[in-house]
Amino acid sequence: MKKDLSNDQVIHVRQEDGIEYLQFRRLLEYKDLTHCFTLKGKENINYISVVKNEYFPKLCQHLEIDSKKLVQIEKQVHGDLVKEVYNYREIYTNMDGLMTNQKEIALGLRFADCTPIYIYDPVKKVVANIHSGWRGTVKKIGKRAIERIQEVYGSNPKDIICCIGPCIKECHFEVEDDVKILFEKAFAKESAIWKECIQMTKIIEGKQKYTINTTKLMIEMLEQAGVRQENIVDSGICTACHVEQIHSHRVEKGKSGRNMALIMLK
Ligand SMILES: [Zn+2]
Repeated sequence: MKKDLSNDQVIHVRQEDGIEYLQFRRLLEYKDLTHCFTLKGKENINYISVVKNEYFPKLCQHLEIDSKKLVQIEKQVHGDLVKEVYNYREIYTNMDGLMTNQKEIALGLRFADCTPIYIYDPVKKVVANIHSGWRGTVKKIGKRAIERIQEVYGSNPKDIICCIGPCIKECHFEVEDDVKILFEKAFAKESAIWKECIQMTKIIEGKQKYTINTTKLMIEMLEQAGVRQENIVDSGICTACHVEQIHSHRVEKGKSGRNMALIMLK
């Protein structure tokens, strides 16, 4: 059996029908909410498309989601656009975040290394699902999402809970000068910790390599947007370290499937 990924922040759920997923302990405290981050399971399930995926209806059943009321983003584009969802029949595309205060509309985004941010305001009853790849992190989509929730739903950032799902961590997120410079440009002025988040590692074929701790930058960004430190939860799980259970674009060299992050108000 594959390793149990449970830790202080997440539990690893294994259903008898082969469906496996992670859930945040913090979000499980709320009864008006359902959510998950899917795992490959023993059947190596790929959520790149849910249309022909025989496992998807089963996943929905476990989570008490009506699979017909799933809203996805057709094309996730590594931008910073976050849109409100009122109607599950509408098509959403060319964006990277969805938010809603409507019950029973499931927000489902697809991931392979990029950072999922699950956002929940238990006071205004709002959820959001954010896809923040490194480009999205540079564009500060996390901060943008908090601003949008304030604008649209009148949320107070102090009430908002943010859970950072499995993503590629600094142990595997190795980049060269081009990417490092973009992070530097984006964070040097605003961040007190950017220097410690970018580490020089080695030189290969004359090229300096760096690792970047995008999670740490994300947490600081959310705090700057007004989210309380105690309301930010990090799964602590690196997708690339757990490629036997989680799809990883980088390790599987672009041929990976997709994990799905789901969140819904009940
Ligand atoms: Zn790793």
